[in-house]
Amino acid sequence: MIEKLLESIPKTNPFGEKVTLVAAVKLQTPENINRAIKAGITDIGDNHVQEFKDKFDLIEGNPRRHFIGHLQTNKIKYLVGKVDLYHSVDRLPLAEALSARSEMAGVTSDILLQINIGDEETKGGFSYGDAGDAYRRTKALPALRIKGLMAMLPLSSDEETLSALARKMRGLYESLMDENFEYLSMGMSGDYELCINAGSNLIRLGTAIFGERNYEKGK
Ligand SMILES: *Cc1c(COP(=O)(O)O)cnc(C)c1O
Repeated sequence: MIEKLLESIPKTNPFGEKVTLVAAVKLQTPENINRAIKAGITDIGDNHVQEFKDKFDLIEGNPRRHFIGHLQTNKIKYLVGKVDLYHSVDRLPLAEALSARSEMAGVTSDILLQINIGDEETKGGFSYGDAGDAYRRTKALPALRIKGLMAMLPLSSDEETLSALARKMRGLYESLMDENFEYLSMGMSGDYELCINAGSNLIRLGTAIFGERNYEKGK
């Protein structure tokens, strides 16, 4: 099943950029995650610091580690030096704290700025209008490297609207792009195809890989 999915995902987007798949592993057991890695998953992304910590030593195959969930500043210390890419830098105090902690640890952390492209109250992220300012202020921090942008599209079945938002994100990505930019992280199980078509090159899939999540069994 994972092999089929991996085969079905386009290798490149219309801009000729390689498309990378991150498995969103929230609520999955280490056994499930390790099975997915054996089947070809190279990158995994956690939402919860506690789960990340609990599972860290149980994951086999040395995948690239992403953090994709909302991050509280007082939990940063558990992640620094262990995460290859932070997708969800969604506010300046978080960027500042992550830079400070990274500096203390002697590392540079790779991050994406999260943009609330649908302007949704329920979602974090910088507004489209604040993105330029957020980029400049974050860029000035010593121990972070901005590798691009991340967005979550609204839940909607209106593909036209979603595609327009995804293209707007690609436009923002290109307008801010500098020599460090590499990733536009956009696309989940329900919308990844249209996101890739609009120019995403990093997709985060949970359900498409593992099936429906069981929130009752999880923690
Ligand atoms: C859970 C999650 C995903 C994956 O969602 P699916 O719809 O299951 O593919 C992607 N990104 C983030 C930030 C998530 O929390």
